[in-house]
Amino acid sequence: MTQPAPRITPPVPQPESDFYWEKCKAKELWLRHCKACDHTYFYPRDICPHCFSRDTDWIKSSGRGVLHTFAIVHRAPTPAFNSKVPFITAVVELEGGARMPTNLVQVEPDPAVVKCGMAVEVVFEDLDDKISLPKFRPAS
Ligand SMILES: [Zn+2]
Repeated sequence: MTQPAPRITPPVPQPESDFYWEKCKAKELWLRHCKACDHTYFYPRDICPHCFSRDTDWIKSSGRGVLHTFAIVHRAPTPAFNSKVPFITAVVELEGGARMPTNLVQVEPDPAVVKCGMAVEVVFEDLDDKISLPKFRPAS
């Protein structure tokens, strides 16, 4: 008898992030924005990490940005990632300034191709029937 394939543990939405995950499922990227200091930030939380104001709301992101940094992962961190390597883990700086940890997809995992500063755009990958993960690809 064979073991079931290891599974990637999905994110667990919390009250502060329910809206975010609902919008990701609808293929929209929404971020938190601070009305007191005008920063936009990720991950979603009620209190601004820049000025600690609670006067925050949601704004819809264009889904466009630039690749801030990346690493090409060749060794799976857990068995659930065995079929994924090599993959690109990345930080994207979105229009508006928020930086978001993510994956870069639909591109050759080759440092001769992937460059910091390259324009990227969001795509959504369905993980299960509740969670869609925002990932990024080179902008068209
Ligand atoms: Zn603030």
